[in-house]
Amino acid sequence: MPELPEVETIAADLRPHLVGRTFLRCELRFPTIVRHPEPEAFIDAIVGMQVTAVGRRGKYILIRLVDDLVLVVHLGMSGQLRLVDPATPLALHTHAVFDLSAIEPNSTPPSPAKGRDFPGERGRPIQLRYRDPRRFGRLLLGTESDLLEARAMPPLGPEPIDPAFGADDLYQRFRNRKALIKAVLLDQSTIAGVGNIYADESLYRARVRPDRVARSLSKGSVKRLHEALRLSLLIAIKNRGSSVDTYRDAWGEIGGQQEKLQVYGRAGEPCFTCGRPLSLVRIAGRSSVFCRRCQR
Ligand SMILES: [Zn+2]
Repeated sequence: MPELPEVETIAADLRPHLVGRTFLRCELRFPTIVRHPEPEAFIDAIVGMQVTAVGRRGKYILIRLVDDLVLVVHLGMSGQLRLVDPATPLALHTHAVFDLSAIEPNSTPPSPAKGRDFPGERGRPIQLRYRDPRRFGRLLLGTESDLLEARAMPPLGPEPIDPAFGADDLYQRFRNRKALIKAVLLDQSTIAGVGNIYADESLYRARVRPDRVARSLSKGSVKRLHEALRLSLLIAIKNRGSSVDTYRDAWGEIGGQQEKLQVYGRAGEPCFTCGRPLSLVRIAGRSSVFCRRCQR
């Protein structure tokens, strides 16, 4: 499932290519992928709207439009959001197709269009396509307060890579939690954007066992975990995310972090620190890989 670094990578890929364009057409090939509002109202509301910014909150991609509207994309388990030339043949399981105008010549890009040249670039229309073989993803449209009120989007905790979010803030969030630390890290209302991959990676880096009760962690352990979260997430963003499953960036390419993971997906293989085989336990219904010697 795409987590904070994967979603951040896609948002950064989309930004220079979407800002300044206008939605001309929307085709929902699997309408129930839209969870808010009703699919017909969704199409009526998005057509004619210009993109003003592209951001991320937790695991949600936020495509901001005029009038404070935001197109929210949650990729679920296997969702892919891709920019293509409109002539590209439709891939199987493409659930939504958006046609966007050329970028108006007098608009300036929000940041240098890095990464990749897009065929035809800014002077030509493009298509944004959403495909999702397992259909756990969703598309939402509204103002942020609408979406929260309609419970289409849950309340999210702070962003762990926000420089304003300190180790003390994290400690306060763990203080009354009787749940296991791994489960607390996965809870999006505690901190936003962390899933199974980066929870395991961060706990290993911080030398904290995933089955510790959250409120039992010392200030020192929480400080290490805070630093480990930041580091694990920022390194993964730099490497364009982990393609451990179906994750692809906005160009359909795999990320680079999957080759650099320390514990995730390595149960039974030797710990990179001590050489002992890594252990596997189930916590909150998810597999957790950790080192019994290095993590306490
Ligand atoms: Zn070890």
